[in-house]
Amino acid sequence: VTAINGNFRLMGVIGDPIKQARTPDNINPIFEARGAAMVCIPLNIPAAHLATVWAGLKGVKNLAGFGVTLPHKQSALALCDSLDPLAERVGAVNVVRREADGGFRGYQFDGLGFVNGLRTEGHDPAGREALMVGAGGAAMAIAFALVEAGVTRLAIANRTMEKARDIADQVNRVTGSEIAVAERAEPKPGQLLVNATSLGLNPDDALPFDPALIDDTMTVAEVIAKPEETRLLALARDRGAKVHSGIHMIRGQAQLIADHLIAVGS
Ligand code: NDP
Repeated sequence: VTAINGNFRLMGVIGDPIKQARTPDNINPIFEARGAAMVCIPLNIPAAHLATVWAGLKGVKNLAGFGVTLPHKQSALALCDSLDPLAERVGAVNVVRREADGGFRGYQFDGLGFVNGLRTEGHDPAGREALMVGAGGAAMAIAFALVEAGVTRLAIANRTMEKARDIADQVNRVTGSEIAVAERAEPKPGQLLVNATSLGLNPDDALPFDPALIDDTMTVAEVIAKPEETRLLALARDRGAKVHSGIHMIRGQAQLIADHLIAVGS
């Protein structure tokens, strides 16, 4: 980031730990390229101090907003002055923006960022069948976004089946979609396969899909951004599938979040 001066507006990213946060290095170049006098900085905030820091951030008048990462995505819901409907439906906030009236409004960009990344990389999910493994916070956001993006079918598999059922019920209730729960993560030809679990963060993690069932008609997409190429993606690539790293979810979000924060108060 070049020459920060008193005209700059701040974006924070709150989380604990925070060292892994990729938002600052992805969003600062976008602020600079857009000519926005804004800078994004990581803030390591333990859960026990969240409410105190939150109240303090209200008083920082040149704070445009902040990203919210683990473990604060759910607890942030109750602290926001208002919620965008998507954040309310997903049940998690990952961006807070100071609105023109000074209030902190919670938004949710995880799923939108995932789909934006897919589109940017030439893997538009519209008109495709998708099979997703995982039923945590990221999976909920992605399920909403894939339905919105026009997948023809979506099935969700997860180690804990009730959580997959909860996501399907919630998304179906709100959108009228017909997401199904899959007892096993068995890929079918032509599908978009999504790993929305945390499997792959460590090199010796189990694989979310059996690579023997992956072929060159499929696209395999990750939420894991570090490593940029997980073992799953390397094996899928070997089998001729198109692969899509979790880094594109971060980049896809960074574009949307930068636009969103620049839009107020500039
Ligand atoms: P959650 O803790 O809410 O969910 C974790 C998911 O992983 C659950 O479905 C869980 O299954 C599954 N899981 C974990 N360990 C195992 C295991 N040993 N075997 C089988 N399944 C397992 O996490 P999030 O949804 O918030 O995040 C998931 C991943 O997405 C994280 O790695 C995170 O880094 C990444 N992420 C990436 C983003 C990006 O921009 N690239 C943005 C947000 C998240 P179960 O329900 O049975 O416990």
